[in-house]
Amino acid sequence: MFVSIRARLIVNVDALNMAESVGNYVKHRKVPVINPRTYTVHFVPAISGESIAHRYQEILVDEAKKRGLPVCKLCGKKRFLKSTNKQIISASFGNVPAFSSCHEVEKFIIENCVVEDIGGFLVAENLGKNIENVKRTSNFYTGYMIPVYEILEDSITEPQLHMRYALGLGELMKESQMIYYVEVASAIYRFSFDLDTQYIGKTAFEKVEELADRQRRVELACSALLQLLRELDFGAKRTRFLPVLKPESMMAAISPAAWTVPSAFTASYFEETLKKRERFGKEVKLLAYVDQLMLEDTSQYVQQTTKELLAQFYKALEEFIELLKSKGDADKLDIDKIKKEWLESFVKRRLDELANSRDLRYASCVARKYAEAKEKLEKSGVPVYTDYSEFLAALQEHIKE
Ligand SMILES: [Zn+2]
Repeated sequence: MFVSIRARLIVNVDALNMAESVGNYVKHRKVPVINPRTYTVHFVPAISGESIAHRYQEILVDEAKKRGLPVCKLCGKKRFLKSTNKQIISASFGNVPAFSSCHEVEKFIIENCVVEDIGGFLVAENLGKNIENVKRTSNFYTGYMIPVYEILEDSITEPQLHMRYALGLGELMKESQMIYYVEVASAIYRFSFDLDTQYIGKTAFEKVEELADRQRRVELACSALLQLLRELDFGAKRTRFLPVLKPESMMAAISPAAWTVPSAFTASYFEETLKKRERFGKEVKLLAYVDQLMLEDTSQYVQQTTKELLAQFYKALEEFIELLKSKGDADKLDIDKIKKEWLESFVKRRLDELANSRDLRYASCVARKYAEAKEKLEKSGVPVYTDYSEFLAALQEHIKE
């Protein structure tokens, strides 16, 4: 089974991935991203795939322990050094047998640690004759969360001033009092996670051999993914910079072999996913979630504001006529002609305003795409949930199946 997840997450004031500190200034990770329309490079806040992978593997550790599945000593402490060399291998597994092939190394490590089974490892040291390196590719794939296309120019990082300062402590505070800055970011990020269960609980480097508890390991990997999606609790600095985070939309694909949902970098990914399935993947099961907020009708908003503005226009016009009358000048002007000219100019101005309005630019480029895609998805039998927990419950059911 292959599970592919793509999503767009609204994240406000996050310090989830801090890349370095310069003195008392801690920087949010930033990456260069090319705007596909203008070819301009933007340096934007980002959250690395390592950060997401770390959280997923932490969940694996906790779940594996609950289920009585093996985890090595270092992974058990959530230090994912993963069998890089002899020293780490013995710190992880204690007494290690003599190996005579790469296959034996791989089998030994995955048998004794589900984190390295699911998340891969790399032995980069010679472990004996014919055992130069042993590599196990991770069975899950994730990557950088970067701001989505529609807000590429608007995502923001800003240093916030903080103080550790207590009055009245005299000498005690002299050394320890300090100000510091933490860069926080706000953006709508694209999120991706794929899980391929094909080789979980199976060796793959030299030859394929299945472990007896493979089924339980696959269940563990799926359940950890569901927990990650449920809590979306990856990243650092969560104790004092817990971000305001909400999924805007999510698409899940479950298929018998590798089949990924197109990138959620643009809001058209719902529709692209559907087109991809129509052409290549009749057997792929799709499930979608979109925040109700995204589906609120924008034409209603336009109607309402136009109505209000028109009412104001007529009121102003009536007041103007009243004023003319009071001055005795009402019959000197052609009121109907003025009304016509003013109304025409009002409508033109209103249309210009609408065309340039940021609200509506957003609404037309994002909300409309979701609304149209929802209709098409539902026509093709793909359920679109507007309740996130309902979506997760359905995803859980499909994975079980
Ligand atoms: Zn391990």
